[in-house]
Amino acid sequence: MSDCIFCKIVAGELPSKKVYEDDEVLAFHDIQPASPIHVLIIPKKHIASLADAKAEDWPLLGRIQAAAAQIARELEVEESGYRVITNVGANAGQIVHHIHYHLMAGARLSPLGV
Ligand code: C5P
Repeated sequence: MSDCIFCKIVAGELPSKKVYEDDEVLAFHDIQPASPIHVLIIPKKHIASLADAKAEDWPLLGRIQAAAAQIARELEVEESGYRVITNVGANAGQIVHHIHYHLMAGARLSPLGV
């Protein structure tokens, strides 16, 4: 999508600090980290959110989970623990409408909730 900031990162039109890339998945450091390690993992294909994923997208979203586990191993946070979440819609605080999974680690994370 031409006005999507993450599509522009995928296309190389905007810079990012990449931590992982394959043919379908890209991961990069969040520009405003909310934890000592804060990586965003995205599909290169534009999908607005989990709510917009189609049946054909489930294998791709599964690859994101696999990428998250690999990145956590490479960043050496597997043993200390990490969190992988995706925000869907306004109440969850989704501000970028290209599905992305936050991988957060490097500190004791606060409990999820309101
Ligand atoms: O889940 P949500 O949509 O709120 O998260 C979007 C995330 O994308 C934010 O953490 C923001 O800092 C990050 N971001 C980024 N690079 C951009 C624009 C947003 O890392 N160019």
